[in-house]
Amino acid sequence: MRYQCGEVNILPVNPPVDDYPTYIEAAIRAVLSEGIASGAAALEPIAYPPQIISRRPGVPLATAARVFKRDHFSCRYCARKTIPTPIMALLGRLYPLSFPYHPNWKGGVTHPAVITRSPVVDHMNPGAWGGDWNADENLVTACWPCNASKADLSLEQLGWPPPLSIPDTDWDGLTGLYRQLWDAAGGPAGGAHLRWLGAFGV
Ligand SMILES: [Zn+2]
Repeated sequence: MRYQCGEVNILPVNPPVDDYPTYIEAAIRAVLSEGIASGAAALEPIAYPPQIISRRPGVPLATAARVFKRDHFSCRYCARKTIPTPIMALLGRLYPLSFPYHPNWKGGVTHPAVITRSPVVDHMNPGAWGGDWNADENLVTACWPCNASKADLSLEQLGWPPPLSIPDTDWDGLTGLYRQLWDAAGGPAGGAHLRWLGAFGV
């Protein structure tokens, strides 16, 4: 179930998919009343043995551009419209005092739009949990806040619903204006921008 809040769908705050508090309370009560062995038994249903999970590989730029275009530059978890970070970086270059941009998104010198509207490619089910790192059907566009709150967990582990359908919209993440904006900004950092421009086909 999702709650409409203007343009943005808000994910449920506490999806009722796990009973962690129940099990954790039971384990603590068991430790306190019956000892450590009883606590271990009470924790058994939610036991999570330490494991080494595979590192998330970087997503090739061409793949990212393909996924963003397929999803019409919209977050598949909350429906936010997103704008590729390099486009907002150009705006920051033109207007450092009203739209500050820092390459590492340093707090205080990065416009909130960069943090809330930058798209990233999310692995719905991370390879660490058996998902395919590279299959397009496992990749979705996510806004930075959704991706950050999802961390490296699977949808099932989070109790999140399946991603939203690809929206019926002509939103292009402002990529149609990207080349002109880059020119207007004086054509900075040519290599990086030309790679993105080429990948977006604009
Ligand atoms: Zn989102």
